[in-house]
Amino acid sequence: MNSAARQNPRVNLLNLDRPGLEAFFASVGEKPYRATQVMQWIHRYGCDSFEPMTNLGKALRRRLEAFACISSPTIVKDELARDGTRKWLLELENSNCIEMVFIPEHDRGTLCISSQVGCALDCSFCATGKQGFNRNLSVAEIIGQLWLASRVLDHQPDSERKITNVVMMGMGEPLLNFDNVVSAMRLMLDDNAYGLSRRRVTLSTAGLVPRIDRLRENCHVSLAVSLHAPTDDLRDRLVPLNKKYPIRELLAACERYVVGAPRRRVTLEYIMLDGVNDSLEHARKLAKLLVNVPAKVNLIPYNPIDGATYQCSSKGAIDRFREVLLSAGLVTVTRRTRGDDINAACGQLAGRVDDRTRRTARISAASPVPAQTL
Ligand code: SAH
Repeated sequence: MNSAARQNPRVNLLNLDRPGLEAFFASVGEKPYRATQVMQWIHRYGCDSFEPMTNLGKALRRRLEAFACISSPTIVKDELARDGTRKWLLELENSNCIEMVFIPEHDRGTLCISSQVGCALDCSFCATGKQGFNRNLSVAEIIGQLWLASRVLDHQPDSERKITNVVMMGMGEPLLNFDNVVSAMRLMLDDNAYGLSRRRVTLSTAGLVPRIDRLRENCHVSLAVSLHAPTDDLRDRLVPLNKKYPIRELLAACERYVVGAPRRRVTLEYIMLDGVNDSLEHARKLAKLLVNVPAKVNLIPYNPIDGATYQCSSKGAIDRFREVLLSAGLVTVTRRTRGDDINAACGQLAGRVDDRTRRTARISAASPVPAQTL
């Protein structure tokens, strides 16, 4: 038993999805419907203690207090950008920190959450990758982000502050923390928890092909893929994972994914880097590559980060790039940069990561990701 478990041997119910809660209640001699009741109290009503759970009866509440708890990460910083974007720094048990961002728009509110402490993939333009990798987040730490943000935001009278969408686009590669991410997403979808539709939960991946297929079988939510380049040569440099799963294989996985998916198209993210991947030639190659792919292209203006030499493409270059894709019949939108004055924009989330894995030494050309994590 590790020291954290010795200090707190109680079961954290935030770690359990529906099957987990049912198994937990079975183990203490209670009926499965207790799982539904407790799920509603925790996730729908945001309870962090058992006292208010009046339909459980006093005796059961006393027992739960003795051997269970509801424990999430702790908010240590809360920042509001000029455009209303809000970023929280959350502290985990071992003093690592992760970041989560809320982006309010007139017709929706999107919560961007993290799946790992740091990231092992080392994409050359991303702040999270620069920090190295520490560990996967637990289910409680993933769903705990939505739980915390809902407690803060949903209790405000202003309806614009409600969370209508969740995107797994914060720190980390969600498909490298597959089981915990899927359990957390199942809670997001469960009518007795957050009741979000599959269209409104999006997982973004750098492109782990076998796990895209596994996601389709296990939890068919909306999919976004970080493409960023029209050729393998260039993508190898931007997203080292491409050496393992090149573009053709990745796009084939996208085609398989959309069959029966909540959205007919996969979102392909394409970060706009001045003089790197933003020429008309790149746009034409991209248009050709995607001619039969059921995709929507999301152009992301690059957000500057410390330690990278890239510049964002000019507005003109982004507009011209978009025109080429549009005239080839591709649905293409330019993502509006949000929250950049508080470093809350795409790729700027950094948290506080105690890098256990010495990233640069570990990631070699032959194996972009440590074998045991794939
Ligand atoms: N690992 C996942 C999810 C995290 S990144 C993935 O790669 O998709 C979420 C999105 O932000 C990705 O499309 C990523 O490529 C993009 N991004 C990363 N760094 C960025 C930066 N500095 N500026 C703009 N977008 C960035």
